[in-house]
Amino acid sequence: MENIIQEMEQYAKTYHVPIIEKESLDYLLTFLKENQIKKVLEVGTAIGYSAIQMALNLPDLKITSIERDIDRYQEAVENVRKAKLESRITLLYQDALDCTLEDTFDLIFLDAAKAQNINFFNHFEKNLSSKGYFITDNIFFHGMVEKDESEIESRNVRGIVRKTKAYLAFLEENKNYHTEIIKIGDGLAISERT
Ligand code: SAH
Ligand code: MG
Repeated sequence: MENIIQEMEQYAKTYHVPIIEKESLDYLLTFLKENQIKKVLEVGTAIGYSAIQMALNLPDLKITSIERDIDRYQEAVENVRKAKLESRITLLYQDALDCTLEDTFDLIFLDAAKAQNINFFNHFEKNLSSKGYFITDNIFFHGMVEKDESEIESRNVRGIVRKTKAYLAFLEENKNYHTEIIKIGDGLAISERT
């Protein structure tokens, strides 16, 4: 299994796939263990790296993961097959916002298009168990969120930064959740239903 993890890390590097940072992954795995999480919904599979890491480290965990890019989805299917995790990882090829699920999950990991986080949150809230958590990755958007807007040249990046800030404000104002910002990796937001 070491091999497949290394292969995926190498692939991500070569093809610039933004897989979860090591520190954030360690935090996430510890969180899953401490809170005895059994069912995860992941929004943004990419090549299956974070889903496979979660499944390998928590033998009872089941994961449903959504990806809208066909090449990445197919790569993920192949990686899950190689890791022999087909029985515990369900991959869906769809735009998350078009995806209607009936299941309930005790943790929802948001790691897709950063500008869409408020929409993902609202869309999947009905799928979160009564004591569940949302964990959102890349809450600092590669350090950009801490910068002054005038320092950011790309209009597109400025737009995402603005939306990331709006998402942070949305979490802070949301009285149904208690949100903690974890300053590791690219920033994680842990939102616990209150
Ligand atoms: N969780 C992965 C990394 C995901 S990268 C890991 O850590 O290993 C983000 C992925 O989200 C990209 O592959 C992108 O195609 C996908 N994505 C972005 N917006 C999406 C949407 N609306 N629905 C489904 N997937 C989306
Ligand atoms: Mg991420």
